Amino acid sequence: MYEKEREELLERLVKWGYLSKPEVIEAFKKVPRHEFVPNNLKNYAYVDQPLPIGHGQTISAPSMIAIMLESLELELDQKVLEIGAGSGYNAALIAELVGPKGRVFTIERIAELAEFGRANLKKTGYERVHVVVGDGTCGYKREAPWDRILVTACAPEIPKPLVEQLKTGGKLAAPVGQHYMFQTWMVVEKRSGKEIRVRECGSCSFVPLVGKYGWKED
Ligand code: SAH
Repeated sequence: MYEKEREELLERLVKWGYLSKPEVIEAFKKVPRHEFVPNNLKNYAYVDQPLPIGHGQTISAPSMIAIMLESLELELDQKVLEIGAGSGYNAALIAELVGPKGRVFTIERIAELAEFGRANLKKTGYERVHVVVGDGTCGYKREAPWDRILVTACAPEIPKPLVEQLKTGGKLAAPVGQHYMFQTWMVVEKRSGKEIRVRECGSCSFVPLVGKYGWKED
């Protein structure tokens, strides 16, 4: 189902320059986005826009996810932490990119959404992604250190524990900035010890990252 729509969306994302890495394109081809959105929105799954997934949260637009995944430079067999599981769609794409020997953990603060994400991952065959309920701004020390960390909600600044839990040579990508506006996509590389290199990779718009090292709850 929806194969033609998926193919056409990918062609557009390549044409517009959002997608270029063959392995990322391949992952997008394999993961059925329509299985990760609420039933009444399935027909919009292959339109390039964010969609509501309940509890005031959204699954990002495919073009934004393409930017996230291309900038994170995932490799086979890596151990990856995602903050903000939501629908589980990003985590499934990450699982494709790191392959069967890679390890993927995704943290979600809203228990009902974690359940939604877990169910979506199960029905599409990605049970090997671990969905954890908790505050991802503190990272996930039990499984640290990480090769890659992807943050899918916007913090006022990059949460310190996440940088601490990165391996040397590891990379973290996150939106940083104000609530809903003036946000920048940042890619952080941990060089050695405490030395980090930060690159700003364009503007973006995400829901807030709420937690100890993020925004305070209203
Ligand atoms: N990656 C998701 C998109 C999620 S939207 C997908 O593929 O569908 C961002 C998510 O981050 C929301 O579900 C929100 O509840 C969650 N979130 C916000 N603050 C968080 C925190 N401190 N820890 C974990 N999840 C958080």
